[in-house]
Amino acid sequence: MFQINSAKSVYMILKLHTIITGVLKLPVLTATVLLLTSCLTVNRDLFRHSNDMESLQRYVENIHLKLRIVKDNGFLWITNIDSNQYKQIHETDEHLLAMFKNYRDIYRYNPLDNERKIIILYLKKADELKKYSRQITGEPQWGPYGYLASDYLKPKLKRKNFVICASEDVGAGTVLHEMVHILNWSNLPYLPCWLDESLAKAISPVGITVSYINHQSGKVIIFNAYALELGEYLRTHKNKLVLREFISFVRKWKYLPIINKQSSMSSSLMALLWRYLGEREVLSDCLMEVEKQRKFDVAILETCLGESEQQIQDDFVEWLKLRKYLPPPVISF
Ligand SMILES: [Zn+2]
Repeated sequence: MFQINSAKSVYMILKLHTIITGVLKLPVLTATVLLLTSCLTVNRDLFRHSNDMESLQRYVENIHLKLRIVKDNGFLWITNIDSNQYKQIHETDEHLLAMFKNYRDIYRYNPLDNERKIIILYLKKADELKKYSRQITGEPQWGPYGYLASDYLKPKLKRKNFVICASEDVGAGTVLHEMVHILNWSNLPYLPCWLDESLAKAISPVGITVSYINHQSGKVIIFNAYALELGEYLRTHKNKLVLREFISFVRKWKYLPIINKQSSMSSSLMALLWRYLGEREVLSDCLMEVEKQRKFDVAILETCLGESEQQIQDDFVEWLKLRKYLPPPVISF
């Protein structure tokens, strides 16, 4: 008797659940899709005009920012920076080309060699980017420093239109960083967010520095941001770097591209590991293995380096010292 009653109530609950979700599902689903489509639709008009410089120039003149089109080394820039600052654009272009060349073994598929279109929106001020980027790119600003607008609703390999957005006051480093994301998406379809972000940090050639002023002495102390984050990690891990723990720590933010203090720290620490693997010339082997096995763990490092976990751990720590990421910087006030 008890069993029958119980089965009946489960049936009733299930039926009620089906009715409620049946009524709600369609509008909720439609609203979500509409919201996503309106937020994540890159401005097609911009790309439609991008084959013809004059037509693109006329198109961007409708935006009240005195925008100019600059084509330097194959990259298409839309900018309002002063023409005497164009050497910045040239230097960034040179860096981009060097990056494409240096990492040819990882990024065999070069987005410039095919139908993919990359536009770089480079404004004078971060405030202007905040105000106008949506009108120009079609997508709201994501990141605090700059961001990448693309056909996000498509799978990574099928995305064809990209707008890298950055501002002069925040720095050209953002352009290089965002370009690595484009290379990652065009070549490494598995790569989850945490590896994508850490690779962008490891490969873009611009180092991030943080400066502190000692108000008593007036001295300015400059640190590498990654060394500072490694110091923070060690403080909370008994001052020991155990490879296995280190990897499980950096993997914590593996699914969502949430930018907060901890995810940013995790990707910086993983970037150090990528740089180490790069110097040991196994970066591309490791990435191929990650793509193949669809995971990242100590075993992949052991396979690629042909060494034991302990040996890799010791060597990585030595490398961190050699490259001055260790010992952690001391801030004295
Ligand atoms: Zn990024």
